[in-house]
Amino acid sequence: MRIDYHTHHSRCGHAVGTLEEYIQSAIAKGMEQIGLSDHMPLLHVDPETYYPEMAMPMAELPAYVEECLQLKEKYKDQIQVRVGLEGDYIEGHEEQIADIIQNYPWDYVIGSVHFLGTWDITDFRQVHNWEGRNIIEVYEQYYDAVQKAAAAGLYDYIGHIDAIKRFGYRPEEDVTPLEDAALQAVARHGLAIELNAAGIHTAAKEMYPSLRMLEKARSLEIPITYGSDAHHPDRIGQKQEQALAMLKTAGYSRLATFNGRKRDMILL
Ligand code: ZN
Ligand code: FE
Ligand code: FE
Ligand code: ZN
Repeated sequence: MRIDYHTHHSRCGHAVGTLEEYIQSAIAKGMEQIGLSDHMPLLHVDPETYYPEMAMPMAELPAYVEECLQLKEKYKDQIQVRVGLEGDYIEGHEEQIADIIQNYPWDYVIGSVHFLGTWDITDFRQVHNWEGRNIIEVYEQYYDAVQKAAAAGLYDYIGHIDAIKRFGYRPEEDVTPLEDAALQAVARHGLAIELNAAGIHTAAKEMYPSLRMLEKARSLEIPITYGSDAHHPDRIGQKQEQALAMLKTAGYSRLATFNGRKRDMILL
């Protein structure tokens, strides 16, 4: 398993290191492919007044893509660089997201649900939003957004599909039907998902998705890729052995890779 399709860098304001440092780290770790997938600029909240250090400014997007393309060329004899974007799914803003996607030569676009309205459920500074909320209702809202992201026709795969568990809020109710409905939407719309190692370091203490969801995804024949979600160059390829073991347990034998918005399957 010599790929990593989910990485960030300093432009987003909350990650460390240049794009080149992530690529060099991937080469040092023997990777064959690295996907650069920094956060999409904020669209639906005012970057001037919202929490700082969420994503690159919109004005920075052309320079991001340009630098990715230059590095792809520069390192082409050492590693295959794939140019990507972690695109948020924001209900009601599909056209603006589509514009961003259409304007650049992406190899792939990840569809991640971070926002429920203006609440970024993955931001530690916003955890207070859980207070007084009915946990299962937040889960329902989250998985509804995931289903809409899968149906939006914008993305190649869904990122950290059960990210709602990130801060350890788990409802007493069974969430299996919500999780499975999200996976069924992914399968129906022909998308892939990722095994995202970053969940390990959160209060959820497990990767995204859980082994149960991964097994369900396998039974639905949903293709899978791997991503470290590295926000530091050292984290490239993190927990790959554990990820590999999980994938084997779930019955996967191939990984999805992306090139020019086309999916290619490679052996695990
Ligand atoms: Zn980030
Ligand atoms: Fe994310
Ligand atoms: Fe990410
Ligand atoms: Zn992420």
